[in-house]
Amino acid sequence: MDNVIFSSWNGKIVDNRKGKTSKAPKRADITLPKLPEEEKPLALMGWNGLVVMNPEADIVSLTLRYLKEIRKLSCGECSVCMIGIDRLLDIIGEMAKGEGSKADIAEMKAIIKQVCVNSKCGFGQSALFPVLDSIKFYKSDFLALIKGEKKLEDKDYSCTVTAPCMEACPARLDIPGYIELIKNNKFKESLDLIRENCILPGVVGRVCTHPCEDACVRKDIDEPVSIRLLKRAAADDDLQHGGSSLNGPQKEREERIAIIGAGPAGLAAAYNLRLMRYGVTIFESLPHVGGMAAVGIPEYRLPRDILNHEIDLIKRIGSELKVNTKVEKLSLKDLKKKGYNAVFVAVGAHIGTKIGAEGEDKGYEGFVDGVEFLRNLNLGEKVKPQKKVIVIGGGNTALDCARSCVRIGFNDVEIIYRRSRVEMPASDEEIEEAEKEGVKFNYLMTPVKILAKDGKVTGVECIKMKLGKPDESGRRRPVPIKGSEFTIDTDLIIPAIGQRSELPVIPDKEKIEITKWGTIKVDPITYMTDVEGVFAGGDCVTGPAIVIDALNTGNKVAKSIDCYLQGGSLARGITFEGVDLKKQMGRGFTVKAPAQGVGFLDVKERAGSFEEVEGGYISMEAMSEAQRCLRCYRVVVWEKAI
Ligand SMILES: Cc1cc2nc3c(=O)[nH]c(=O)nc-3n(C[C@H](O)[C@H](O)[C@H](O)COP(=O)(O)OP(=O)(O)OC[C@H]3O[C@@H](n4cnc5c(N)ncnc54)[C@H](O)[C@@H]3O)c2cc1C
Repeated sequence: MDNVIFSSWNGKIVDNRKGKTSKAPKRADITLPKLPEEEKPLALMGWNGLVVMNPEADIVSLTLRYLKEIRKLSCGECSVCMIGIDRLLDIIGEMAKGEGSKADIAEMKAIIKQVCVNSKCGFGQSALFPVLDSIKFYKSDFLALIKGEKKLEDKDYSCTVTAPCMEACPARLDIPGYIELIKNNKFKESLDLIRENCILPGVVGRVCTHPCEDACVRKDIDEPVSIRLLKRAAADDDLQHGGSSLNGPQKEREERIAIIGAGPAGLAAAYNLRLMRYGVTIFESLPHVGGMAAVGIPEYRLPRDILNHEIDLIKRIGSELKVNTKVEKLSLKDLKKKGYNAVFVAVGAHIGTKIGAEGEDKGYEGFVDGVEFLRNLNLGEKVKPQKKVIVIGGGNTALDCARSCVRIGFNDVEIIYRRSRVEMPASDEEIEEAEKEGVKFNYLMTPVKILAKDGKVTGVECIKMKLGKPDESGRRRPVPIKGSEFTIDTDLIIPAIGQRSELPVIPDKEKIEITKWGTIKVDPITYMTDVEGVFAGGDCVTGPAIVIDALNTGNKVAKSIDCYLQGGSLARGITFEGVDLKKQMGRGFTVKAPAQGVGFLDVKERAGSFEEVEGGYISMEAMSEAQRCLRCYRVVVWEKAI
């Protein structure tokens, strides 16, 4: 797309149609959506303008196609945009039949202005902007159509629909779509739509870190739409009505796939591969399925009946599941001999990172890594509450350990973190809830030595820190203050500063490259490792991430394995990196309305109980919250070279 002949993208006009260099900004100044090069796009029309790359492009036909696509998304609720788009389609149709006149162009402009000003939602307020550009800058083409000098043609088009929230979601869920269905009391349909890309909706509806809400346009007006809680509402409503089942495939294919690891990535791949009728076997080293969702995330944030229900649905569509089966050495040859045609390695990141303190490797009783502590707890180990516990780290895992200790019955739960609160990676909600539960936070200190007597932890020697210049993470680097060492007495120390993968699964003779961060190197598009037929994804490729990331990878790996086995390549599609999806967003009729709140378990009831802390919406509340969605759909249509 380097040869831009015309562009109105971002409201900046680049017009090189007459071969003259325009005074307006050049291509380099505009960030356009990246279209698939192999499609040799001729022209693109999207909410933010019209871009023409090739003089052969047919702008009137492109405009017609764009109008047809946006018509599909017009909900008709405030009727202005639906009526407006219908009239625009009629006018172009009349022009094509030789029944048009010059006055139609003025009418089109007037309609567009009315729709943009009077529509209630973000979609109606913005979708027609580029049509105005095509009428204005390609007026002669419309006049040629009116005069019968030009015909409308159905060319080869591609279309994509996105929204700021959808682009922020790793799995690109159709967020405005499922919210709209909830708004119309169609909870079941909403859940079906969510499940197309997220097979653990009740889980993600509870624990997702919801990057979508940070991108929500409503955030700039009052508060973001509670997208996560709406997803939870769709899943909870289904359970309250008995829980729907998933349809499994009728006929099997011959090919079998081995999946190593039954976490979100492995489960999503298994589900999608089953829908494609492949035989699937999942090997899982632990007795439970669910990966970190089962043995990491504590029950007070994710009740196990919710997780187990969703896992059961996936199991029931026919994946063979071998728990308590650790794959020690992976050899594709061996697996092929056993009848597997492809392998997906999804082993997560289950080994705690070292804190660099003296004595941490001595195996002292009372020194246990955060992920191991949570795993043991989740697998049913009874932890005896003691007087005091020190948790080391500032991320959500550290918070999960500390808040679990409160529930186990420790009297004194303290976190030590080497930077200040501002730099703490844990979410504000988690920190606030922990504070309410009595967790004490000690900032700007780090452990240097584990103190023990007779092989049992007695305390930790720490040093005070100050903040220096920002490091590569952008956060200010903690610097030790010489001579500031001090001691804290404690019975239990839980370091929780990060995780890495355990990869005995990869034997030396298989030439699978491991990165310097200890993750598996894969092709970024296909997820295939250096060994043909072996794919990898989830936390063991990205490093510790979030559930929705792992689910997304599982979905994509399934498609990639299918392409590998059946021939074919993965479509790269359009990408919106650096594109301001909020541009052109009108503010029309938006009335300020704060988000619907939910109840929380009383703090007094939390100690000694792993009961779920956050409440959900009842249907009416969910429908009311869904009303706040501005439907910021962005449609892009482009003409491809034949
Ligand atoms: C304490 C904690 C809290 C978290 N909280 C959140 C949160 O609130 N929200 C969120 O979105 N994300 C959260 N995460 C992150 C999230 O759980 C992970 O990103 C996600 O589970 C990764 O999925 P995965 O499938 O890649 O790996 P995992 O979930 O780790 O699953 C990998 C599976 O592979 C199995 N396995 C490993 N080696 C072998 C082997 N050799 N043979 C057979 N099986 C093997 C493991 O036992 C495990 O079951 C949290 C993580 C932790 C540790």
